[in-house]
Amino acid sequence: MKKTDRRSFLRTGVGGLAGLATMPLLSGLSGCAQTPARATSLETEKLTDRVMLIRGAPGNVVALFTDDGAVLVDSGAADAARAVKASLGGARVRRLFNTHHHADQTGGNVLFGREGATIHAHVITRQWLSTDYYVPSEDRWVKALPEVGRPTETFRLKGELTAGAERIEYGYLLEAHTRGDIYVFFRDSNVLAVGDVASPLLDPVHDWYAGGWLGGRVDALEDLLELANDETRIVPAYGPVMTRAELQAEHDVMLHLYDRTTFLTTKGYSAEDMLKAGVLDEVSRRFEDPYRFLYDVCKGLWAHYTNFGGNIV
Ligand SMILES: [Zn+2]
Repeated sequence: MKKTDRRSFLRTGVGGLAGLATMPLLSGLSGCAQTPARATSLETEKLTDRVMLIRGAPGNVVALFTDDGAVLVDSGAADAARAVKASLGGARVRRLFNTHHHADQTGGNVLFGREGATIHAHVITRQWLSTDYYVPSEDRWVKALPEVGRPTETFRLKGELTAGAERIEYGYLLEAHTRGDIYVFFRDSNVLAVGDVASPLLDPVHDWYAGGWLGGRVDALEDLLELANDETRIVPAYGPVMTRAELQAEHDVMLHLYDRTTFLTTKGYSAEDMLKAGVLDEVSRRFEDPYRFLYDVCKGLWAHYTNFGGNIV
């Protein structure tokens, strides 16, 4: 299926989301890594003169420094918030972007929000963070963030602003991992933060209950490839900084799996059938939990089956 076909359907879906916040049962993964982050000091890496990567919160946090303070992309887990703050060398956080709503990206929101940071996110991410929601895979509820930790600057498609000498561009990555994913591009520093839309280290997660699916991931990776050049430092939520070539390789694997799993879904294959058929052996990538990956892929495909012409009778 062509990208444009997936997209036209996805676009029509956006308008229907306005009422999402009023739904009593919002659900999804609370985070992509459940390992608690209790480190008191975190590893940092200077990416450019003014952009720093903070690792182990438990995922990656990106910090841009200006004369007026810092701009963060993601705030880490709640119990890592103080360690993230300590990594900033006293710089005050003026702005914070959430790449999506999961707790390992938004746990520091309350701390930085309380200290006056303006929090930016996709409007759907704000909706998730503003209500209690159920996590099916863990059979538990996640509480809404206190008001002070919720995004106040929201958008639907894209936006840009300037912080110090840096132009910051941000935009929606429709239904790649959740339904509220965004990228944040530090244009002048050529650093592109992509959240869980790229996953070079952990198995890619599709939070199907929150709208993420493999077709959305392929589209989003294509959008990111258009933004990046050979010098761009691409920062995923977990794992090492990627080059554009590495992002392209990840895209190619995901596109192959999209083609195969959509085809097999129309033939009535379950995740278990696909595993037995060796679908994941067709790609160079190895998966830590192959069944879990395919289970989520299949859930996402079923939720979007009219996108790829699924017609099981
Ligand atoms: Zn996530």
